[in-house]
Amino acid sequence: MSARILLIDDEPNLLLALGAYLRQVGYEVVALSSGEEGLEKLCDWHPDLIICDIMMPGMDGLDVRLELEGDPLRRDIPFIFLTAKNQLDDRLIGLRSGADDYIVKPFEPAELEARIESLLRRVKRDRAAVAQEVETLKENLLANVTHELRTPLAVMRATLELMLEGAFGHDVQMEHRFLAQALENAQSLQRLIDDLLLMTALDNDDCELFLEPIFVSEFLREVQSGVWRVEAADRLVIHPLEPSDLTLCADRRCLQNILGHLVDNGLKFSAGAPVEVQAEARGGGVAITVADRGEGISAEHLPRIFERFYQVDMSSTRAYEGLGCGLHLARALVEAHGGYVDVESQVGGGSRFTIWLPQGLPEGLCRVTDLLRKQDRLVVVEGEEGAE
Ligand code: ADP
Repeated sequence: MSARILLIDDEPNLLLALGAYLRQVGYEVVALSSGEEGLEKLCDWHPDLIICDIMMPGMDGLDVRLELEGDPLRRDIPFIFLTAKNQLDDRLIGLRSGADDYIVKPFEPAELEARIESLLRRVKRDRAAVAQEVETLKENLLANVTHELRTPLAVMRATLELMLEGAFGHDVQMEHRFLAQALENAQSLQRLIDDLLLMTALDNDDCELFLEPIFVSEFLREVQSGVWRVEAADRLVIHPLEPSDLTLCADRRCLQNILGHLVDNGLKFSAGAPVEVQAEARGGGVAITVADRGEGISAEHLPRIFERFYQVDMSSTRAYEGLGCGLHLARALVEAHGGYVDVESQVGGGSRFTIWLPQGLPEGLCRVTDLLRKQDRLVVVEGEEGAE
């Protein structure tokens, strides 16, 4: 199929001649004489490339470019300015507006044709590279998810089979140990599914925060007793809180999720060493730090660890389990509360993750005005502040 070109220029002769030339060399061309008509055409026709004049009555070429820049579906259509404006400033403005090329009139049609070909070739290559990257990501993710689901499922299944076979006999203690392990694996499966659902909800802006006042000292006790990695719970050290009556306003389940991931990572990536949690009042909010003395993260990877599904070791033979969504979720949840996450790390020296949350109602959410009391919790939804 021949590539489609949308040509916009207010000079009728150029429109006619260039349109005919491009058709003759094999392109499908729609030639229109104003920016307004061009944008209108884009509503029902998707060209592979746009060639646009700059100086036109009404909407000029830069306005057309500006409109396209604000349209995520059309901003990436390859775009060439074809214009008599020849000053360096004009060319810079044109290229900086997001156009891919800038050709000055008068021009050689054969050169324009060569530039079109080259631009279309480049775009095709870039798109193929992105498609390949997405494909690889999909394959890795599928392999990872399958692996993360299969392992706990295998433990649960084995326990059930042993019970059915009567393998524990009258050994109640042994049976209890196996059942506890199966339950731990079921909980880890549940967390994995909850995380994936939560990530989708955050992506779709469909995540409601149930804000409530939280006593930080009480919350830290919950962290201590709710460690996901039960076998490593004794390595978690929670420092006493000063002042002990510190509170913050947050969604308790989100906060548990955030700290759950940070503590779990600390324990996972620091075999045998303690993981320390410390909270303090800081800058009108509360800072909670999770520090480990594990393997640390190199400067090369550090800026990327909050990306969705990013893992320092992405190989199929990696030593640690995980999907790579914990930190991404943690940061998104902290930011939804109006806070931020900070990390310092040194290879071989351990990592130190700090979350900061505002003590009162998060700033972004103060706009959110309808405070409803649901059960015993404050529910923040869009609307006006008011008592129920
Ligand atoms: P995962 O499920 O892999 O733990 P996360 O999103 O929680 O996913 O973390 C992303 C990656 O960041 C991890 O795979 C690991 O490479 C790195 N990372 C996170 N926390 C630590 C830590 N405390 N020490 C060393 N590396 C860490």
